[in-house]
Amino acid sequence: MDELRHLLRRAADHAADYRLSLPDRPVGVPVDQAALNKAFAVPLPNAPTPPEHVLAELVAAAEPGLVATAGPRYFGFVIGGALPAATAADMLAAGWDQNAFNAVASPAAVAAETAAGTWLKELLGIPATASVGFVTGGQAANTAGLAAARHQVLADVGWDVERRGLPGAPVIRVFAGAERHATIDRSLRLLGLGTDALRPVPTGPQGAIDPHALAAALRDAGPGPTIVCLQAGNVNTGACDDLRRACDLVHRYGGWAHVDGAFGLWAAASPSTRHLVDGLEAADSWACDGHKWLNLPYDTAFAFCARPDVHAAAMSYAAAYLVGSGGVPAGADLTAESSRRARGFAVWAGLRELGRDGVAALVERCCALARRFADGLTAAGFEVVNDVVLNQVLVGFGDDARTDRVVAAVQADGTCWAGGTTWRGRRLMRISVSNATTTEADVDRSVAAIARLAR
Ligand SMILES: *Cc1c(COP(=O)(O)O)cnc(C)c1O
Repeated sequence: MDELRHLLRRAADHAADYRLSLPDRPVGVPVDQAALNKAFAVPLPNAPTPPEHVLAELVAAAEPGLVATAGPRYFGFVIGGALPAATAADMLAAGWDQNAFNAVASPAAVAAETAAGTWLKELLGIPATASVGFVTGGQAANTAGLAAARHQVLADVGWDVERRGLPGAPVIRVFAGAERHATIDRSLRLLGLGTDALRPVPTGPQGAIDPHALAAALRDAGPGPTIVCLQAGNVNTGACDDLRRACDLVHRYGGWAHVDGAFGLWAAASPSTRHLVDGLEAADSWACDGHKWLNLPYDTAFAFCARPDVHAAAMSYAAAYLVGSGGVPAGADLTAESSRRARGFAVWAGLRELGRDGVAALVERCCALARRFADGLTAAGFEVVNDVVLNQVLVGFGDDARTDRVVAAVQADGTCWAGGTTWRGRRLMRISVSNATTTEADVDRSVAAIARLAR
């Protein structure tokens, strides 16, 4: 018994040592992947190994290949670092080893998801009556939202897609901004709608959907099953679609409005950015990540649906041995998984740690730091290409080849990490400020390093 206690304490110590090293550790320096693979690729032993040996071997093998994405100077993709209480809660979720499938499998897991779901809706301004599926990521949340959409737009024309599938079904038209996230396309593939169903709608200079173009597209399409994928937070620019106007248009044509707000939906949590997602409450489904800007552990995201009955009709399943799901859809009724990790504990803990003001402050601080980045790099003579309305900054360093060289040099240097992107045909550096621990000093140090390397 003491051995188990010792083992779990060792694991917690390793995690704490790593976390405490983050502010000073090089960020994402190049790794010898072949050597790393080799360290893991020992022959599978026949005999059992004592757990403490396994843990020591794992730590030794993994350490050189860990990327300091949880640290304060990682600005790649849209990646946050898990908050302390959320990290600890996630460790407990592993220790408790609960199956969040339903309230019979784990009453505590369902209660945590239910409470956290209520808080999430309050923070985001999503109607309190909406359902929330706790899913693995924005990809899964988009898939769940679009499954609900598929159900309803076909039910509206008398087609039961859950029973009959898509063969012979009326054609669904899917409108989405030309700058949609690529996971929308994959969700459409997985749902059998196919990417040919997509009708891209032109976007404005910052990548937000052009409402006039959307109106024209809907008018030209005429009546029929219609899904419109809107976006809060373009991965390059941070731009948000005009949700109020777009949802109004979609509903005028009897369609379903889905909002991919993986990170941008968090603009709703602060009075200073709330206007960017004004009208979001009018949508029919929303996808939002916890593991990006909210700084929760992987894999945490939320699929919200204005119609819980539609959400469950699209996602739930029943079997004779499954008792206790009850009348109110919860847990696995709202996701594509059956047995599930109890990710609600970490969500509950992270939100409890921050509080309403803490979530707002996190959003405001990241936006302010993004502007500081933009100002610093502009002052250093480089070109900021986007309107920095949220936490994303796009920077050019001259021609494409030169920008790519600067991005590579920054990644090799290890002071900070930023990725490259192609935006409107141009190679650019993409900086995303999403970490709860990033300070002004981290930004200034990063700006200085980028400027030094660029020169
Ligand atoms: C990151 C992102 C996704 C995908 O989310 P995952 O959590 O990586 O599955 C979808 N849409 C947008 C706008 C995103 O930024």
